Amino acid sequence: MMNMIDTKISRALTVAVACVFSLASAAAIADEYGKTSAAAETVAAVDPASGMPEIKYELGKQPLKEHPGGASNEATARNFPISKGMAGVSMFLKPGALRELHWHANAAEWAYVLKGHCRVTVIDPQGHHEIKDFGPGDVWYFPRGHGHSIQGLGDEECHFLLIFDSGYFSEFATFSVSDWIAQTPPSVLSKNFGMPENSFKTFPKKEVYISQGPVPPPLPQDPEPGSDNPPPLTHRFRLGSKAPVVTPGGSFNMVDQKQFPISTTMSGAILKMKPYAMRQLHWHPNADEWQYYIKGRAKMTVFGSQGRSITREFGPGDVGYVPMGCGHYLETVGDEECEVLAAFNSGTYEEISLTEWLTKTPERLLETNFGVSPKIINELQKGPPIFSYPEKSK
Ligand code: MN
Ligand code: MN
Repeated sequence: MMNMIDTKISRALTVAVACVFSLASAAAIADEYGKTSAAAETVAAVDPASGMPEIKYELGKQPLKEHPGGASNEATARNFPISKGMAGVSMFLKPGALRELHWHANAAEWAYVLKGHCRVTVIDPQGHHEIKDFGPGDVWYFPRGHGHSIQGLGDEECHFLLIFDSGYFSEFATFSVSDWIAQTPPSVLSKNFGMPENSFKTFPKKEVYISQGPVPPPLPQDPEPGSDNPPPLTHRFRLGSKAPVVTPGGSFNMVDQKQFPISTTMSGAILKMKPYAMRQLHWHPNADEWQYYIKGRAKMTVFGSQGRSITREFGPGDVGYVPMGCGHYLETVGDEECEVLAAFNSGTYEEISLTEWLTKTPERLLETNFGVSPKIINELQKGPPIFSYPEKSK
């Protein structure tokens, strides 16, 4: 009993310390270019009720950082402490708006287009250059450090999610070309480019980040002979066009490096769950899971060992996080289908399903393990795969 009370007190202290720290860091958050901006909400590191790390962040409700032609907000380890292994950005670009040439020093970038169209350019260390257009359901992947840009196309705003395989991707680690040029003396730029110093007078004096320009013309169907130098592995994968695994309770559409060979450090999936269905008890042995709720509502429960688990309800714009190895399941809430993007910080997708494990384990062993009758064990071993059947809960 004393032990339990001690544990509770020490948990409460941990939470109090975490809250003080959160408030202090939220007051002066440095954004991607080192200045302070309207602080996004910082969630407590630990949920006092369960003693588990907080698994939910309401990304869609956070203030957007506005730029000419575009806007973004982010969930990083700073404002969402559990998310040390992955961070996410929700970005909007108007037609013609350009997220400028930049690279990330400490993370690869895996992206999913939710709405609208955009054009991506990317260069790799071998000098291969790829320009590709993206629409809803398309995925891109840039290995760590590869230079890239993103520009809105068409006649509607483009909305996409960027997911990075480091929770600390943005702090001091996103490098923009306008920032570098602004930081470099004109005498050095003159030597580097072989141009007069005064040519650099009109360049921006600070990082541009996003700038509004005209919508670029359509890509040529047949590039000029000798003008094209595409990489051997494309940066684009059309996940929306791939056939999903369909079960009565929902569908699961996954892409990892087997289908998309360049994406060696990340993978992702779209889950669509029917009303009253659930994504069954499972865990990922090799990766954290970063989720973005696109449509509908669901409850997720994460099991954290030592008698601990945490449940949160998620809706559109919310982010969920499951640390590597933690057991978890999702239940649809309400009578609308729930659609979730799940990204993983491994190029190889792996999961272990509790149902499958029990199905493959000898009955006698399970009887000893659980101390229940063979009849119950027999039923336990007939569970459906991936998603449960969509049935109204009793
Ligand atoms: Mn980027
Ligand atoms: Mn999962």
